[in-house]
Amino acid sequence: MKTKRLILMFTISSILFSCGKKEELYEVEIPESVYATEEEVDNSPTKVVAKDGSFKMKGLSFNYSDLEPNLDAQTIETHYSKHHLGYLEKLNELIKGTDLEEKSIEEILTSLDSEKKALINNAGGYYNHNLYWEVLTKEKEKTPTGKIAELINRDFGSFEAFKTQFKKAGLDVFGSGWVWLVLTENQNLKITTTVNQNNPLMSFETEKGYPLMNIDMWEHAYYLKYKNNKSDYIDNYFKRIDWDKVNYRIELKSN
Ligand code: MN
Repeated sequence: MKTKRLILMFTISSILFSCGKKEELYEVEIPESVYATEEEVDNSPTKVVAKDGSFKMKGLSFNYSDLEPNLDAQTIETHYSKHHLGYLEKLNELIKGTDLEEKSIEEILTSLDSEKKALINNAGGYYNHNLYWEVLTKEKEKTPTGKIAELINRDFGSFEAFKTQFKKAGLDVFGSGWVWLVLTENQNLKITTTVNQNNPLMSFETEKGYPLMNIDMWEHAYYLKYKNNKSDYIDNYFKRIDWDKVNYRIELKSN
């Protein structure tokens, strides 16, 4: 595609040059086919493909700029194509040739012991980001409906009360970590926090549960746009939550 553009530019320049006198310049209509389609744009999420290995990048349900102005394109692009891809590729390297290659990511996470630091960081990093992207949407300001609305009201009193607690947990994360909404064994909602790339599926975590949604509180998730203003980052994340996806995860867990 780039080559075609260069050839076209060269052709246009040659035409302009050959016209000689300025008043003889005329516009050249660029044929439709010259423009890149969405798939061909160099920085599309579909271009992010891991080296061969057990796990793959799952793609995004939006393009990098689709969550503007709440989450900026540059942050999402770097976050997805560098940070997330990095965790995945390290995970694939770590499990290569071991029996973990045959397991699902959830099986790996639940079976890890607390000494397996590199696997915790990279299997966690892969899973945690998959969930973060899964629950974000290009639709704006959806509100909880169905089962999740019902459970939030039952367990937190109201959506506002839930949001206040979730946000406080995010503001209280010291260093790098995540805040989670999980479904506990007793089918209750609970807000939990983990450090680094740990998550509530790991057996050694004190607060366990099945992850329904999460927010990345690592600086790479917000610093470019929000600097140290975590509060605005969390508010803007809330504007892009897909509550249908959260309901889907509740379904998954109850089946
Ligand atoms: Mn991250």
